[in-house]
Amino acid sequence: MQIYTKILIGMAVGVVLGITLGPKSDLLTHDLYRVKRAEVRLDRDDAKTAVSLGAAEVGLRQLEVVTEQRPDATGALQTVPAWARVRFQVTERMLLSGEALRQALGNPRAGQEVTAWLAIKNVPLEGGGFQSMPTPVSALGHTVTSWIKPVGDVFMRLLKMVIAPLVFASLLVGVAGLGDVRKLGRLGGRTLGIYLVTTAIAVGIGLLVANLIQPGSFIDAADRARLLAEYGGDVGAKAAAAATAPSALDNVLEIIPTNPLGALASGNMLQIIFFAVILGVALTLLGKGEGQIVVTFFDKIQNAMVMVIHIVMAIAPYGVAALVADVVGNSGLSILKALLAYGLVVLLGLALHTLLVYGVLVRVLARLPLRRFFAAIRPAQLVAFSTSSSSATLPVSMECAEQNLGASNAVASFVLPLGSTVNMDGTALYQGVAAVFIAQVFQMDLGATEQLGIVLTATMASIGAAGVPGAGMVTLAMVLTTAGIPELGLALILGMDRLLDMFRTTVNVTGDLAVTAVMAVGEGERLSPLSSDDDQAHPDRGFERRLERAPEAIDPD
Ligand code: ASP
Repeated sequence: MQIYTKILIGMAVGVVLGITLGPKSDLLTHDLYRVKRAEVRLDRDDAKTAVSLGAAEVGLRQLEVVTEQRPDATGALQTVPAWARVRFQVTERMLLSGEALRQALGNPRAGQEVTAWLAIKNVPLEGGGFQSMPTPVSALGHTVTSWIKPVGDVFMRLLKMVIAPLVFASLLVGVAGLGDVRKLGRLGGRTLGIYLVTTAIAVGIGLLVANLIQPGSFIDAADRARLLAEYGGDVGAKAAAAATAPSALDNVLEIIPTNPLGALASGNMLQIIFFAVILGVALTLLGKGEGQIVVTFFDKIQNAMVMVIHIVMAIAPYGVAALVADVVGNSGLSILKALLAYGLVVLLGLALHTLLVYGVLVRVLARLPLRRFFAAIRPAQLVAFSTSSSSATLPVSMECAEQNLGASNAVASFVLPLGSTVNMDGTALYQGVAAVFIAQVFQMDLGATEQLGIVLTATMASIGAAGVPGAGMVTLAMVLTTAGIPELGLALILGMDRLLDMFRTTVNVTGDLAVTAVMAVGEGERLSPLSSDDDQAHPDRGFERRLERAPEAIDPD
């Protein structure tokens, strides 16, 4: 069976697992409160018995719920949960968090089970009804995902492990191979130009579909109030992260590493690129006599890293299943229903951008048949989708570009690492849709100036966003501020963000690969996308059967 078929199966298994056995599964009993800074009462009727369980998140198992009758905003009487009797295990952390807790519980041991009462807050919603907080999830689902999740984390970490050595080695070899600084300057200028233009078009498409379809009008007052109440508390952290993000000038200066080994050690992509380029150029100036040995050494390192990627890809189907199960399980179906129109508009925009913009790049500029292009980049798209990280996908995209598309190392090793941090069309498009959606829900009118402002900031913000899960949500806070939209609006879309992240990251990576194809052809290369049959037939090319070789022991000379 081919690798991408296996990954697809992994993905499907992940979706089914997440829906049926995830913490928010509708099929399981919701009986676990996961609360940060929890305060419980040992005696429900005595406020003096209240104890705080520390700042860390704790899991409280629900044993019983006591309800009460309360009039909602419309005056109608509603039955709402008032108290939950819960059981939890005392942890070392809780014990460390204070004397009060130790005294109240009579010097408990870690691991001891305690029963107490948790007050449930009920926030009245504008259109009637209440949002109860906290809301329980399934204890069984939580256990299942906490067992599955490490498999996904292993896969993510393995991918990330390859990034710094692979990018550094292959870019150094690539630049040394070009031998001409002017060629590099031209490649760099064109790449950045095309990245910027496609990103600005992406925001434009996002704004267009959102203005035409008006997803904000599909959300009713009750859903709006519920989303704001449920996720409002999480907005502060995103806004704070955006506020402390470095400015554009800082970002430019930051490209120059003061300590190149530090850049490699911390995986700072733009700094690694900068140092590899300078060192590569320096080697060409030294000439073959002195430079050859260094280039040959890094070439071998690069080959070894490629082999590591193929070892990592062997567990991709399991890693993908675990990552997808975690996201789907924690998102829950109810949020999908409330935000369906918004989610569909984002997906429509992403599909249009992929077909129209990348279609033109690939078909017209790179002169490649679209089907073969998309078949060739499938492994990178699948990994991008499941990891939601362009950075983690980078090693796989580089393999796809060189092996499956046939681009040269020089072009792929420059254009792709740059793209993984700088080029995020999917993210930019989604920010356009999100901004208009939030404005529509808040019944604000966005004029032409505001929308143009959104194009500019979203383009810049997507350059600044790191290629990691959820990065686009942080920079969206900046976009909203520019357009004068309240940050609280983030709460409306937070619950669905992680799911949409999968799709926009896939588009981000597709864009990087489309531009790589264009650049390679622009440099006079002939691309020959590898067909599945060729891939199967040649264990030394592509992604199939790459590990089918007998290992050899190597002794030092
Ligand atoms: N996860 C995205 C990426 O890595 C960034 C974002 O949109 O959050 O490309």
